[in-house]
Amino acid sequence: MIAEIIAAGSEMLTPFRQDTNSLYLTAGLNDLGVTVAFKTIVGDSLEHLTGAAVNALRRADIVIFSGGLGPTEDDLTREAAAAALGIELHPDPGMIAALYKRFAERRMTMTPNNTKQANVLDGAKLLENRNGTAPGQFLETRFAGKRRIVVLLPGPPKELKPLFDEQVKPRLAATLPPAFIAKRQLRMALIPESLVDSRTAPIYKTYADVETTILAGSGEIQLNFIVAKPTLAEAQAVVDELAAKVEDEMDEDIFSSHGESLEEVVLLNLGMRHLTLAAAESCTGGTFAERLTAIPNSSRSFVGGVVAYTPELKTLFVDVPAEMLAAEGAISEAVAGALAEGIRRKTGADVGIGITGLAGPGGGVGPDEGKAIGLVYIGLADAAGTAVKEVKITGDRERVRWWASQHALEMVRR
Ligand code: ATP
Ligand code: MG
Repeated sequence: MIAEIIAAGSEMLTPFRQDTNSLYLTAGLNDLGVTVAFKTIVGDSLEHLTGAAVNALRRADIVIFSGGLGPTEDDLTREAAAAALGIELHPDPGMIAALYKRFAERRMTMTPNNTKQANVLDGAKLLENRNGTAPGQFLETRFAGKRRIVVLLPGPPKELKPLFDEQVKPRLAATLPPAFIAKRQLRMALIPESLVDSRTAPIYKTYADVETTILAGSGEIQLNFIVAKPTLAEAQAVVDELAAKVEDEMDEDIFSSHGESLEEVVLLNLGMRHLTLAAAESCTGGTFAERLTAIPNSSRSFVGGVVAYTPELKTLFVDVPAEMLAAEGAISEAVAGALAEGIRRKTGADVGIGITGLAGPGGGVGPDEGKAIGLVYIGLADAAGTAVKEVKITGDRERVRWWASQHALEMVRR
């Protein structure tokens, strides 16, 4: 079953307003196992709206309209839907009476254009709108010989949302074949999206019934699998089988196979091994500590750290030798190692992390002059010794700082 959402309203074709209703509707449709295959935004023109409705009826099983149900000239959704379906609109007497009553209660005179809101598509069920005047409509019909469901919903989100949740979703659920949804999410860090896709597409492509999406951002790739089956057990079995194959392929690159964040996984791994962690951060300015401490109960494994930003504070806080700073510069392998060892020694943590780098946009000074923007060193000191990783991060200051913390988390995880 696929759906199309038509958002009616010229304001959403300006730079100032966005169609947010379709996001809400999409989430609700996905819950029911319905895929949104198309979204259309159309201005307030009867011709354009009718054209869009015909297109949608040709290609989607469920067509949901948002907006254009009010009383004014530019509210044309009912007329367009009727024209596209080749059916008539008829005034609903009960609805007309309700409109008069509503206006009388508010001691207002009802202008004649309001009765237009009581026009119903032949065969449609009216959906009461408890937050506004224009009711929604739900119609099961046929178009070019095919079964179609057409839904009209008012545009204001506080009217559309309850109407959709309380009256449309249950009706849709009753007409759809029973479907149980299972989802899995695999997460990877610091690996290019194209590489993930080239290695995993041959696997997930063989599962035509599973909807696979790859999301990339902030140094992380998420592979999402979602499938609908007649029973939950079947659905779960399919996504689990697919996830297991992808896990085999990507192996250690996957940090989470049930949706946990990188921070959570790092803390979990440390906790299981009864290890504690501390960090001395320079260019990340506390981002590493901030991300870990955002997780509840992080204090079981993350003991704390310092932001040792200037060379003097690197010496004062964690005993980085001043001679080393003068000779190698703060952005160096030696200093990253010294930061990691220093914070480990000072705090007594099992694992020490040191992060130093050039976030830009300005260049380095003194011994760091000429070093590339985005050059970052991450040191990790533990009982086995000290390792330092050199990374070159592209992008602006914010990105360099975030990715540096991402590299540091990945280093602890592995
Ligand atoms: P009304 O009776 O209020 O005129 P309507 O069903 O005719 O309701 P529209 O006139 O299309 O709806 O839109 C009314 C308001 O609802 C818009 O000004 C806008 O603020 C909001 N709205 C409409 N469509 C959307 C949408 N797709 N996403 C978010 N908000 C919307
Ligand atoms: Mg309107």
